[in-house]
Amino acid sequence: MLTNSIRTSNLAIDLLADSPASTYKKNNVVVVATGGTIAGAGASSTNSASYTAAKIPVDALIDAIPQVQDLANIRWVQALQIASESMTDKELINLARQVNDLAKRSDVNGIVVTHGTDTMEETAFFLSLVIRSDKPIVLVGSMRPGTALSADGPLNLYSAVALASSDTAKGKGVLVMMNDTIFAARDVSKIINIHTNAFVSQWGALGTIVEGKPYWFRESTKRHNSSSEFNIESIEGDSLPLVGIVYGANNMLPQSYLVLQQAGAKAIIHAGTGNGSVADYIVPTLNKLQSEGVQIIRSSHVPQGFVIRNAEQPDDTYGWVVAHDLNPQKTRLLTALALTKTTDAKEIQRMFYEY
Ligand code: GLU
Repeated sequence: MLTNSIRTSNLAIDLLADSPASTYKKNNVVVVATGGTIAGAGASSTNSASYTAAKIPVDALIDAIPQVQDLANIRWVQALQIASESMTDKELINLARQVNDLAKRSDVNGIVVTHGTDTMEETAFFLSLVIRSDKPIVLVGSMRPGTALSADGPLNLYSAVALASSDTAKGKGVLVMMNDTIFAARDVSKIINIHTNAFVSQWGALGTIVEGKPYWFRESTKRHNSSSEFNIESIEGDSLPLVGIVYGANNMLPQSYLVLQQAGAKAIIHAGTGNGSVADYIVPTLNKLQSEGVQIIRSSHVPQGFVIRNAEQPDDTYGWVVAHDLNPQKTRLLTALALTKTTDAKEIQRMFYEY
């Protein structure tokens, strides 16, 4: 809910009024803050890597960049104040409901979600699957806290507001705005933890932002948002079907999979080597689990490329699913949503090729 965290009380009037200084009608953007480094603070300006995430409240973040007021009418809500590695499905679902409620409001044109970078790609992907809206929804974070030399948060946030308020971003799906670059939620991944160019997409960025103006070069061909078959409004409660991930390497243990089954996992993502490969001595364990109703999804811990079905393993024979190009953490989310609708492996496979 916006009520407690909104600075202006007469929202409807404030939001619809043009700024006297403005020559154009500004869009209304809501910043939904969740924490992360963009809200972090360190002991000194040289502490760019050692600091505490999720300290600074959203109003202070926005007050630090008064230039955003020229871009849009800004409101904000402090949804969470956490480091993003502590997100669970409960926080994710509640955040999605909050963003969905905002997206349905006629007085909201765009939404910015400030977020820790560790799991930003997961939250962005989830929102792209469950929010049926064409309005711009932009996730943004930073790699350095606001207290550091050359902090990247202020410009990232400025660019995110510019993007969320741009009519050109409508229908492009949930976006991630980092380091002047616009990424599609499904493709983007954090690939380095110590530099500001932390995010890439193996299929390329959608575009870039220069001085608050978006320039577009690509579009995602995959289903998302308004064309998604998933909907946060159909999800009951605050949990998803349990899906675990096992990291592939030499010297695997069958127990790593079995313990997930005992914990109640309805599917296991095998984050395999290479083409989602499975060690010969692990195959019987996966087939046993599959015959007992646990879906087996082959993903890969290789950061680029995609898992080819029936290569390395006979997926058709075993009734397994391949994750296509989704990394293991995004595979977990699509699998969990798929399981809210079906337990048919063929149907789950269709979803992996469509999203
Ligand atoms: N691990 C923290 C988080 O993801 C800080 C990292 C960051 O935001 O860059 O929230």
